[in-house]
Amino acid sequence: MEKQQFKAESKRVLDLMINSIYTHKEIFLRELISNASDAVDKLAYKSLTDEKVGLNRSDFQIVLTPDPVARTLTISDNGIGMTKEELEENLGTIARSGSLQFKQDMAAAGETPSDVDIIGQFGVGFYSAFMVADEVTVTSKAYGSDTAWRWTSEGADGYTLEACEKDQVGTDIVLHIKADTEEEKYGEFLEQYRLDSLVKKYSDYIHYPIKMLMHKSRQKERPADAGDDYKPEWEDYDQWETLNSMVPLWQRPKKEVKPEEYNAFYKEQYGDWEDPLSVIHMSAEGQVTYQAMLYIPGHAPYDFYTRDYQKGLQLYSSGVLIMDRCADLLPDHFRFVKGVVDSQDFSLNISREMLQHTRQLKLIANNLEKKIKADLLRLQKDDREKYETFWKAFGVQIKYGVMAEYGAHKELLKDLLLFWSSKEEKLITLAEYKARMAADQPYIYFACGDSTANVAKLPQVERILDKGYEILYLTEEPDEFVVDALGAYEETPFKSVNDKDALPESEEEKAQAEKKTEENKDVLDFVKEALGDRIKEARISRILKSGAVCLTADGPVSLEMEKYFRRMDPSQANSMSAQRVLELNPDSGAFAALRAAVDSDKEKAAQYVNLLYNQALIIAGIPLEDPAAYTELVCSLMK
Ligand code: ADP
Repeated sequence: MEKQQFKAESKRVLDLMINSIYTHKEIFLRELISNASDAVDKLAYKSLTDEKVGLNRSDFQIVLTPDPVARTLTISDNGIGMTKEELEENLGTIARSGSLQFKQDMAAAGETPSDVDIIGQFGVGFYSAFMVADEVTVTSKAYGSDTAWRWTSEGADGYTLEACEKDQVGTDIVLHIKADTEEEKYGEFLEQYRLDSLVKKYSDYIHYPIKMLMHKSRQKERPADAGDDYKPEWEDYDQWETLNSMVPLWQRPKKEVKPEEYNAFYKEQYGDWEDPLSVIHMSAEGQVTYQAMLYIPGHAPYDFYTRDYQKGLQLYSSGVLIMDRCADLLPDHFRFVKGVVDSQDFSLNISREMLQHTRQLKLIANNLEKKIKADLLRLQKDDREKYETFWKAFGVQIKYGVMAEYGAHKELLKDLLLFWSSKEEKLITLAEYKARMAADQPYIYFACGDSTANVAKLPQVERILDKGYEILYLTEEPDEFVVDALGAYEETPFKSVNDKDALPESEEEKAQAEKKTEENKDVLDFVKEALGDRIKEARISRILKSGAVCLTADGPVSLEMEKYFRRMDPSQANSMSAQRVLELNPDSGAFAALRAAVDSDKEKAAQYVNLLYNQALIIAGIPLEDPAAYTELVCSLMK
């Protein structure tokens, strides 16, 4: 029979497995049992609606058979099985599997994972069998198929596939266990007690029985006629035992579950290599009875911010999986949450369509939303560092949640937001801002820009900082829209530092400003004329202190919003332009020079206008229209 070659990536992972120096070789059993359990899940799910399956819930099982003489360990399941194509696709290639993604994620994070990392931190599934076996045979018969197939491989040099006999639907995986070496006693994986303890350690909550025929011995019953000199006799016998407790983790009392157990479940189920930030384990009774075990991940999955990511929780009915990803249980703003909901109030064969409309589902979803929020607030209060990790991963999602559906969820989400504070020089909540606001401070101030360092240097923040007021520095794309959607926090309105009335003015100050505008009308007209359509207006600034110029915008589209629109859709840029206003500080030296030039040398005045306008663009982080011309202008003025 001709040997087929593994796909390149599979071959590499396989090499890793075979030559692994990884010390936790025992995890192969967990991986294979987990695959078996998934396969059983699939057939059990089918059996809910398809009588032809012919199996009851209680018939499903996973069987371990160690044979020390043949040196084999067999893991059998009566799950869905694999067709010939599936055997080739699933076991001949690893490209879809988690380990590759793990490597890519690590690479994206600028790290090179060691081989040990890959194996240890991430389940590599089926291939881990090669850590302990020098030959693996997979015999499988798929549900609905007449023929069975046998896949055999001794490792990296390929595999064979042939038709074979198998009565029952399902899969048998036979591992020929490697010979013992000085360092490694592979033979332990043929010992019943070792296997029993591994199942209890890693696979206890698998909700199908994992059975093994245990070889035991017991004392024989004392014969009725035994005399005083009777010596007890022993006999051997075999007995089937179920090794796992089968109680799903979420059905166990909270105080009996160890943190490691929660974390192990999370990593295995959701293919993460890091522990979650938080676990919410709850049990509710009343209008609807359910248990939930929810996780807040510590980082976003690679596809989280793409269309491919699908939110949802696994939905069980009394320990039986009825839907793998129930989207209706999670609102979009919490779509990063992973976990399980188990409720006896759903019938096993409820259809997806019916389910969506049940009152119970809505009740649970509403409760979970509250619980998730409460847990995030708890994290924010008790463990700010963890909360910041959360924020880094999912803050953008929360912000989108505030903006979504015309702000329908802003009340729910507003206290989860973090923004950078000018005062604290770190991320703060709006409640923290509000709590330390000065009595005379009318607004929650914000300033936008590309980085906190640049925002801090904007000329228009100076006056407000001088008053001792705190400013939120908004540096992420949706921030300004978020503030816009919120409008106010607990009745205190948000205010951009760019607004001309950002600081309340006395009547006297107002009159003063108007006078200055009046006096300099000719200068302003000159500026507007020189710049033409590039600005809507030139204005005597009421927001500058020592800076000479800045650029602001009138109307609903701010400069930052314009930048955002331009990035999102360059072709739309024109319809979404900000109405630019060039603000000039009448008390600055630069203005005095401009004033003098307007009076005496119009050509020079035009150059100054150009200079000031370009400087305003630079400070606002907007690309210059003609950087070369600007440089030449600066040089010519230096002469
Ligand atoms: P993963 O489980 O991460 O997808 P594996 O390498 O462990 O990766 O398995 C690859 C695929 O092979 C599984 O997704 C599943 O479709 C199939 N498979 C593995 N073991 C079994 C089994 N016992 N019964 C049916 N299908 C299986």
